[in-house]
Amino acid sequence: MMNNCNFKVGVYIRLSKEDLFKEKNKESESIKNQRKLIYRYLKEHNLSSIKEYVDDGYSGTNFNRPAFNQLLHDIKNNKINMVITKDLSRLGRDYIKTGYYVENYFPTNKIRYVSILDGIDTYYDTGNNDIAPFKALFNDMVSKDTSKKIKSILKTKKEQGLFLGSRAPYGYVKDPNNKNKLIIDQDKANIVKQIFSLSFHGKSNKEIAIKLNNQNILSPTNQKWTASSIYNILNNKEYTGCLVSNVWTNVSYKNKTRIKRNQQEWVVINNTQEKIISEELFEIIQSRKRKKGHHIIRNKLLLEGLVYCLECGSLLGVSYSNKRKQYIMTCNTYRNNSSNCTSHYINYQKLEEFVLNRINNFLSFIINNQLLKQRNINNNQDIQKIEKKLKYLYEDRLNEIIDVETYLLKREELQQELKKLNQLSTNNVYDNIYITRELLFSLINKITISRNKQIKIIYNFSKL
Ligand SMILES: [Zn+2]
Repeated sequence: MMNNCNFKVGVYIRLSKEDLFKEKNKESESIKNQRKLIYRYLKEHNLSSIKEYVDDGYSGTNFNRPAFNQLLHDIKNNKINMVITKDLSRLGRDYIKTGYYVENYFPTNKIRYVSILDGIDTYYDTGNNDIAPFKALFNDMVSKDTSKKIKSILKTKKEQGLFLGSRAPYGYVKDPNNKNKLIIDQDKANIVKQIFSLSFHGKSNKEIAIKLNNQNILSPTNQKWTASSIYNILNNKEYTGCLVSNVWTNVSYKNKTRIKRNQQEWVVINNTQEKIISEELFEIIQSRKRKKGHHIIRNKLLLEGLVYCLECGSLLGVSYSNKRKQYIMTCNTYRNNSSNCTSHYINYQKLEEFVLNRINNFLSFIINNQLLKQRNINNNQDIQKIEKKLKYLYEDRLNEIIDVETYLLKREELQQELKKLNQLSTNNVYDNIYITRELLFSLINKITISRNKQIKIIYNFSKL
């Protein structure tokens, strides 16, 4: 049993004029009723430090309400650390902003939030707290971003085969007649051949660098060759006559960090220019490296750089456990000095499955919605009907016309119907999109792991 003495409760009650016009709401939404329900709950849970905030006559679609503002003010001044409402709609009727408070503002300010009728209590980090209605919320904001991504994928396809870089790779120059095409720079191409040949005959990158420097040959940056500049040449697949794009990406609109995509996401177009070395030679050298095991830069795992220690705030680092034959994550602070934090050990694979499952659920929902919009009129009308039903269903739930079970059941039915209509579509966009680091970084602000392995996903909604 938790100690409820530590909670200073802000009771939030709201009644709008619209609520009063609706006859059915008059009774259940009255201030008296909200108060009764909430105080019964507080009593049952031994919560006695109470402050009340009442907005009488204010709409739920707007958050600029005097009592609500006072509540935020008191949160900032640590006068309350818990907020309770009868249900979510009392907090607000705008999906996105309501979601912002529940998913982001309250957790950030360490506020426990309870919505009695929705069964939400953020003190208990159960699956219940990210309840279904929030899918609608994610939908609004993410669909814009997703459609942008779909467009950019198409754009990349169109541009395939054109060299778009600002500088040609060492050994090539841009064709003076066509800046999107590479042609061979014979002298430098010979040096590239020499590098591959030396590597093929067993010379290390460092030995090759020394040899070239002794011949007074300059590196691509007009400096001395180093083991790593040799490494870059030996790893550039474009010498086999192809173009490789989609290697780097900016994380998101919020975060300008550049990340390297996993190799399977790279776009490789063959036969775009004359080759300098054969594909066979390139592969032989690559496979030797894999065998030797050094100089291999492993691909970044999907969640790497997103997972933080809840206690100390530092990133969780990844390592491969030979004993367990799997990747594990532990707090970086703990890695450096085990007396400064606890391990926060978590099995990477399991964490990834958990996160991808969540993301997949709502992406399929969003992308299916996107598809609907591109559908022909007939299909569209059917779909719109269901969408409308879903909306009414959600409103019915907010207004307590139906209980949670009925809501979930009906919603499932409607979503199945939607799914069927979607499958009529000729191409299934969702199947073609798989979750990349780029997409994850744009959706998720961070994932925190608590000492007892509680996983929490914090989405990028704060910009709203
Ligand atoms: Zn830590």
